[in-house]
Amino acid sequence: MLFYIFDTTRAIEYKASNNATAFWPLLRSPPRRVLNTRSPTTVGTPGGTIFDDKLGVDYSKRVLADASAFVWTTFQQSSEADRKNVQLITLSIENLNRDDVVALTSNNMIQYNAKFIADGNVDDLNRGFEGVLYHEVTHVWQWNGNNAAPGWLIEGIADFVRLKAGYVPSHWAKPGDGNSWTEGYSVTARFLDYCNGLKGGFVTQLNAKMRDGYSDDFFVELLGKPVDQLWNDYKAQYGS
Ligand SMILES: [Zn+2]
Repeated sequence: MLFYIFDTTRAIEYKASNNATAFWPLLRSPPRRVLNTRSPTTVGTPGGTIFDDKLGVDYSKRVLADASAFVWTTFQQSSEADRKNVQLITLSIENLNRDDVVALTSNNMIQYNAKFIADGNVDDLNRGFEGVLYHEVTHVWQWNGNNAAPGWLIEGIADFVRLKAGYVPSHWAKPGDGNSWTEGYSVTARFLDYCNGLKGGFVTQLNAKMRDGYSDDFFVELLGKPVDQLWNDYKAQYGS
């Protein structure tokens, strides 16, 4: 009977590759594509080696698939018609030329900075890796209001999905933390979780409304109060 569940779902392809272990100096000429997106001076790095030893391509593809399924459930996108038209998600482990970026997602391409794959006990390593990928995979699938949605909300929703998946890292904002709903990331995610508590499915509905555009009025339309009033209520609840 399981066949019927998967019957209507066209298979999405997931690809993962480790581009942070190759020793370019050993190659006569690195691939041009690689030179365009990565530091030509980087060689095999600890993160790239840890990825190969402890994470790996097959595991990464499973995480991408699990994360996609979780996002569809969270957004209640049970059919393809509800979703963005994405047939392939690629993950590339790379030595990005930035020390302040863990991962980047552009359309269906995720770049994961090998510098942030640090050795540790296997639970922390896997949970950290999975948590970042749940955030990035959310970017692949979430609506962005035809590019009109503000960055704080895009990042807040991605961290909200990560929160709901149970991947809350220790450095995150606690409930009630922050000075504005526009801070993004975990501050906004905690606030969205509060809003979701006022009305179940709020974030699902908010994302659905963002398919074609964006307005702060979406908060009023869904919860009956402007976003700044909701924020004040939220802060008051935590006495902060
Ligand atoms: Zn993000």
